[in-house]
Amino acid sequence: MEKREELEQGLAKLPLMQYAFFKPGELTFTQRVRAICETECPMYATTWACPPAVGTVEECRARCLQYPEALMLSTVTEVADIENLTETLATRAGHEAVTRQAVALLEGLGYETYTLSTEACALCDHCAYPDGPCRHPEKMYPCVESHGILVTELAERCGMDFFNGNLVTWYSLVFYR
Ligand code: SF4
Repeated sequence: MEKREELEQGLAKLPLMQYAFFKPGELTFTQRVRAICETECPMYATTWACPPAVGTVEECRARCLQYPEALMLSTVTEVADIENLTETLATRAGHEAVTRQAVALLEGLGYETYTLSTEACALCDHCAYPDGPCRHPEKMYPCVESHGILVTELAERCGMDFFNGNLVTWYSLVFYR
């Protein structure tokens, strides 16, 4: 069986809403997204998964473009009240778990991966940043936006659905070679 077919069979068993293959060269990396991290995100400069620790947008772009292939994943979870931040953010853990399963699938097929996922890293209660190195660099996924990636543009191009109401949608990007 072709590797791609085996991968898709594995992905079909995961609780994903959608997935799409794309070429990293199609991505838009922009300082405009990075500026939102700097001015609007309370996690800016608090973890190794966020700017400025992830490097400049140009460095992030170069890192992603080392991989010729990529996969976009989405999960959707229904919550009682989308305005309730605690409830909405609690859905991240499930998305991260599914992302890890997808990464394990790719690695099981012999691919080397680089993954971007949701928000800041929450693996440790208190991030080691900036006093010490990341404690779990192999498990830590930087946030998609931290790399300056226009994720909505990619989602549209890949035909990913957007949901309204009390449905929380999360995206991850897995680069592989
Ligand atoms: S794994 Fe721990 S030390 Fe590394 S970025 Fe995540 S929270 Fe910080």
